[in-house]
Parts: sequence; structure tokens; C-alpha cells
Amino acid sequence: MQSIDADVAIIGAGPAGLQSAIHAARRKVKTVVIGRPDQGALVKAQIENYFGIPRIKGQKIVSIGLEQAKKAGAKIYEEDVLKAEKVGDKFVLHTDHETEFTAKAVILALGISRMRLNAEGEKEFLGRGVSYCAACDANFFKGKKVAVVGNDSMAAISTVLLTNVASDVYWVTKEPTVAPPLLEKVIATKAQVVKAAWPKKIEGDQRVRKIMLDDGRVLDVDAVFIELGAKGSADLALELGIIPDPNGLISVNAKMEAEVPGIYAAGDVTGRPWQLARAVGQGCIAGTNAANFVLYGAGEPE
Ligand SMILES: Cc1cc2nc3c(=O)[nH]c(=O)nc-3n(C[C@H](O)[C@H](O)[C@H](O)COP(=O)(O)OP(=O)(O)OC[C@H]3O[C@@H](n4cnc5c(N)ncnc54)[C@H](O)[C@@H]3O)c2cc1C
Repeated sequence: MQSIDADVAIIGAGPAGLQSAIHAARRKVKTVVIGRPDQGALVKAQIENYFGIPRIKGQKIVSIGLEQAKKAGAKIYEEDVLKAEKVGDKFVLHTDHETEFTAKAVILALGISRMRLNAEGEKEFLGRGVSYCAACDANFFKGKKVAVVGNDSMAAISTVLLTNVASDVYWVTKEPTVAPPLLEKVIATKAQVVKAAWPKKIEGDQRVRKIMLDDGRVLDVDAVFIELGAKGSADLALELGIIPDPNGLISVNAKMEAEVPGIYAAGDVTGRPWQLARAVGQGCIAGTNAANFVLYGAGEPE
């Protein structure tokens, strides 16, 4: 077993974790990032809505960010944290490589895993018409026919958003569970609400062409937006004494500090919108404040 002492340990090597690392390491505290950069949400994305960069592959941003974090002085460990605990005033993290990290402050930049529909064709057509983020991918379907799947407010909001872009929008829902004003907003658009139905199968060739519903209906569409919410990595948070919300998301204050002193969180794991810009902004705040916590303790500067 290998033991590594750090000032700031960041769990997660996506944009939130890597930006945290850049800001912490530049304050000259010993910073480690534990996580697999190729496992984050961004590596599957094509980004067109990030400030200053008109169009770039998510994979490319991650690899540039990784080099910046290393150059700033952070050490990267491509391992998964399996267990976390608080021992005295330090935090101990155990990984799948049997490495034991001890740190004075921890940043949880764990991302989220989007809830799957578990329909046939969903995995096959991911990135070829199946999307989990209307806010990210709507513009790729200008003038096309699309379906949104889900029951709650995110599905409703995505439906409204897509009516500004797509030619035809279907909202497929078992039963909408949204507040009446939002439902009225959907009904006021050109979207068609397909109630009491659920996708059974997504079909296509190079791209999505149709979805088959469990009541026998078939919708000819070019895209399916699956908006079922997400789960954060609740287990690690619980082991550190933090109670996540029912969706596994972690609450933070304006300093990105969680309810246990010395623990910070950033990025998708703290809530919506699940966007690169938010992850990077929160990473900057979390990295700066975690370093300040190490340098100045509870009396850290604003
Ligand atoms: C298909 C797709 C398209 C998208 N398109 C856009 C877009 O156009 N515009 C936009 O702004 N956003 C887009 N997004 C969202 C964007 O990718 C996320 O908001 C962003 O990546 C969140 O960053 P994060 O660092 O919080 O999480 P992630 O990027 O998900 O990174 C989380 C990291 O934590 C690691 N991790 C988790 N658990 C552990 C553990 N126990 N131990 C070690 N490491 C762990 C993971 O391996 C990963 O490295 C898209 C997402 C997807 C999936």
C-alpha cells in the first residue's frame, strides 16, 4: 500500500476538479487530483457554448486542462476513490490502487451520472440523436423533429426550449409532474404532449429515425432528449459526514464549502445547470478556498 500526504485532495478529474487543481496548486499548497480524466461527462461532448471558444471537442478541453493542472504543480492519480473517512482533523481517501491519501482539505468534483431510460437503442444511438442535455445539444437539431422523454420540470423546460429550435417537438410522459404554470407554458407552445406512454425502443440507421412507444404508437424523430434527472456520488459524501439531497447532490455555500469544514464541492455534483461554464467557475472558487483553508484554517480570507 502506498501512502500520500497532501494539503488539498480533489476527487474527480473533470473540468470542476481540474480547475480546482489549477487554482489550489498556484497558491503553492500540495495538491493531488484523484480521478480518471477520460471518465467525465465532458469527454463525450461537443462544446459550442463556452465563453471565448466557438466550437471544441470536450476531450480536447480536458486534455489541455490536465496539462495546465500539472504545470501549476498538481499531481494527477488516475485512480478511483472507493472509501473516504475523517480521521481527527484530516481526511483519508482509499483508492482502487490501494493508495491511501491523507489531506487537510478535500474537494468533491465527482460529476453526476444521468439517469438512463434503459430502452433498446438508447446506448447505441448516444451522440447520434440520443442526448441527455437539451440545453447543450438543442442547436444541433434546428428544423428537425425531436422528442423529449421525462415527467418532471426539466423535461418540461427542455420541451419549451426545443420548440424554439426544432420543427416538431413531442413531450413523451407517463404523467407530467410539474407545477400548473409550467404545464401551461408547454401547452402554449407548438409541442405535442404524448401522455400515458413511454419509449420502448429507439430505432435508426446512422442516426435516430424513430421511437416506438409502449402503447404501440411510433414517432418519427431525429433526436430523443432523455431528461430523467441524475444521481451524484452520495456514498463518498455520506462517509465524510455530508448528507446529500434525495438526488445525491451536495449543498454548498458561496465559498463552495459543504457542511463539514475542510470539504468543498464543485461542478455538476452541486446541482444544475449541468454545464461546463458552471463547473469551471465553481472549480475556481473551490480551489481557491480549499487552499485558503489549508493556509489560514478557519480564519480563511474572503
Ligand atoms: C453528452 C454530453 C454533452 C454535453 N454538452 C455540453 C455542452 O454542450 N455545453 C456544456 O456547457 N456542457 C455540456 N455537457 C455537460 C458538461 O460536460 C458537464 O457540466 C461538466 O463536464 C461537469 O464537470 P464536472 O467536473 O462537474 O463533472 P465531470 O466532467 O463528469 O467529471 C467528474 C469526474 O469525477 C470522477 N469521479 C467520479 N467519482 C469518482 C470517484 N469515486 N473517484 C475518483 N474519481 C471520481 C469522474 O471519473 C470524472 O473524472 C455535456 C455533457 C454530456 C454528457
